[in-house]
Amino acid sequence: MKVRFAPSPTGWLHVGNARIALANWLEARKRGGTFILRLDDTDTERSKPEFAQGIEEDLRWLGLDWDESFRQSDRIERYVAAAEVLKKKGLLYPCLETEEELNYKREMRRKQGRAPIYDRGALKMTAEQLARAIENGKSPHWRFKLNTRTVTWQDGVLGARNVKLPSLSDPVLIRADGSFLYTFTSVVDDLETGITHVIRGEDHVTNTGIQIDILEGLSGRPNRIHFAHMPLLTDSEGGALSKRLGSVSLRQFRRDGIEPAALTGYLAALGTSNDPVAASPRDLAQGWDITRVSHSPARFDTKQLLALNRRHLHALPFEAVRERLPDGADEPFWLAVRGNLDLLAEVRDWHEIARGEITVAPQPEEAALLQAALQSLPPEPWDETSWPTWTAAVGQAAQRKGKALFLPLRRALTGEDHGPDLKTFLPLIGRARAASRLQRAIG
Ligand code: GLU
Repeated sequence: MKVRFAPSPTGWLHVGNARIALANWLEARKRGGTFILRLDDTDTERSKPEFAQGIEEDLRWLGLDWDESFRQSDRIERYVAAAEVLKKKGLLYPCLETEEELNYKREMRRKQGRAPIYDRGALKMTAEQLARAIENGKSPHWRFKLNTRTVTWQDGVLGARNVKLPSLSDPVLIRADGSFLYTFTSVVDDLETGITHVIRGEDHVTNTGIQIDILEGLSGRPNRIHFAHMPLLTDSEGGALSKRLGSVSLRQFRRDGIEPAALTGYLAALGTSNDPVAASPRDLAQGWDITRVSHSPARFDTKQLLALNRRHLHALPFEAVRERLPDGADEPFWLAVRGNLDLLAEVRDWHEIARGEITVAPQPEEAALLQAALQSLPPEPWDETSWPTWTAAVGQAAQRKGKALFLPLRRALTGEDHGPDLKTFLPLIGRARAASRLQRAIG
């Protein structure tokens, strides 16, 4: 089995692309196949090297590697050769209509109540007419002559599917400037690189009908590629995700500190009835089953992703994050704070609070309580019994309990109203810092 992920380097990868990349990768890894990264960069105006590089970075960050990669822009001579094959078979024909003419014809057809598809007017052009036009400096674009049949296939996700070719316009495969369109280059590559399974978004279903027809025309034999189309993602309200793609780009999630395992675990479960569990692609491969992906659009809900990210962080062992923690952060520190994190980046604040200098607001109204606390601070060494022993003594001395006792102390010690359990966190702060913070809180 051989699959490919084929992004166009015209922008950053977003979660929709990532889901397709992941599905292809998981299929390949689960079934001992090959995963190819193909950059669909024949649109030279919109394709940018920095996007190509960014795509590779983002895939690596997700934990997806590839066995081979290539760019379509390096294969132009292959497309030229394949186009010649189609021309010889009479399946690729030159057209001279301008954009205005085509618009006009479409409009006329619409007025007559007919489908606004291309009328194949160019097929009536004689060789002399074409030669004269070329002499006069015109250059043709080329269309593929679609068969008059219905293409059918058994879709790996959507089930039985068909596309009625007569209701479509013959697709342009070569522009007047000689550049090739994706519809064509993709077929040439899928054939020549021996792709066995094409997994892509549902927005390509019509393309599949067209591309199977081109593929069969080009190769002269029935299609053998399996197609699977993943239903599109919507936002949490069911609207099109594409409207706010910037906010769901992998870059943005990486910058925000989302863990790649949370994202891959979430994406693998989307549209299935499985509960999402944070996991690296490697750990997801065995449980992956594309036939469990539902036919209907899946909702991408950033809130659910964040919740998964949180659960994942809360269970993460020290060894897994060690290299990403601030200098000096050790295992007791990690175990004390991980349960309070939404994003790993917040660990820096807690490290400052445990080991650094923080501003503590004075609480003059709590001076008596804080005085009592300062006076009964136990000597070090501190362990998990220090906090309960100390606060029991303070409570007794100041006649306080519950929130009225704990909140002023927490504020004085951490500068925050919420945070890690002080039983484990107080020993990290240590006696010297605790004493000076209490003093500052007294005012
Ligand atoms: N470059 C195409 C896209 O990003 C690839 C689609 C396909 O997988 O064939 O939509």
